[in-house]
Amino acid sequence: MTLRIGQGYDVHRFAEGRRLVLGGVEIPHARGLDGHSDADVLLHAIMDALLGAAGLPDIGHFFPNTDARWKDADSRDLLREVRAIIGRDSWMIGNIDATIVAEAPRVGPHIDAMKAAIASDLGIGQDRIGIKATTNETMGFVGRGEGIAALAVALLTTES
Ligand code: MG
Repeated sequence: MTLRIGQGYDVHRFAEGRRLVLGGVEIPHARGLDGHSDADVLLHAIMDALLGAAGLPDIGHFFPNTDARWKDADSRDLLREVRAIIGRDSWMIGNIDATIVAEAPRVGPHIDAMKAAIASDLGIGQDRIGIKATTNETMGFVGRGEGIAALAVALLTTES
């Protein structure tokens, strides 16, 4: 069995008048995240981890924010596209583990829904997906509520 690990990191700034979408789930909040797409920072980190494990360029390469096609894109559509891209090289997903770093809102109650969305888009069991959330203890840009960051690792294998 061949194993490949990848990591991903993303951050988006809060903006007024935007929906907050994390892990494919819309979360009620006073502000959303700014971005060319729906700015789903968690899915972006996961996609970069998957692409990185496959030795491929990052999501900015496949879905450039200069391309009007990806304006306000649903990141779940991009995630399904990433699944197809890595599948071309016969990679299967061993597991994904991710962390959301946000001072607010509380995302814990939404984690099961995020896992369900991601598992569905990637065609894997929810038991292969870990999602955790933490605050930044009021320190730095996340702590000041300026935005949300997300980190992810992904393991790709040649066997399920
Ligand atoms: Mg992003």
